[in-house]
Amino acid sequence: PLHMEMDVNIVVLGTESVGKSALTVRLLTRRFIGEYGDIESIYSHSFLVDGREITLNIWDSPYSETSLFEKKVQWADAYVLVYSICDRASFNAVSRLIQTIKSAKTYLNTEKVPIVIVGNKRDLHHRRTVLSEEGRLLALNTNCHFYEVSAAENYHSVLTVFHGLVNRMKDIKPTT
Ligand code: GDP
Ligand code: MG
Repeated sequence: PLHMEMDVNIVVLGTESVGKSALTVRLLTRRFIGEYGDIESIYSHSFLVDGREITLNIWDSPYSETSLFEKKVQWADAYVLVYSICDRASFNAVSRLIQTIKSAKTYLNTEKVPIVIVGNKRDLHHRRTVLSEEGRLLALNTNCHFYEVSAAENYHSVLTVFHGLVNRMKDIKPTT
């Protein structure tokens, strides 16, 4: 089979200024720009994994709890939930988001909803207010994956998040 392809819809969620756009842009361009504005956008990014072409459609948007939020949750096959390790409120918000997503995806076994929890801004460790352990524990209790990353200083850490998600999706989504 030479033409195996897979499309994955990913939504990046989290409160304001946690680095959702920074992570997305870093994945797509390998760069950290610094300021991103409030754009609502779906980006496509393809790469090869074991000879298979994977296209990620990544929906990045400003924080909102409007009706569009519901739509995003339904549209997505997988979720990247971002908080800042320097922002306790953003971590609490991730906890709530997991519940919201799992109750919206009732047709899936709740253990099977692919969610990655991302603690961003790891480079700002001197301002840390959320321990790594707390992120790890939340992930363990909710069957999510967990990474701490720095969109600003570590491209590889960002790549790991999305590659991990793709690996998980490979087992879930049939090839088209
Ligand atoms: P969004 O609102 O979640 O999309 O957040 P942005 O991506 O716009 O980032 C908000 C602010 O945090 C910007 O000033 C970014 O430069 C900064 N930022 C994002 N990621 C990091 C990071 O990993 N480390 C540091 N130090 N700053 C970051
Ligand atoms: Mg943004």
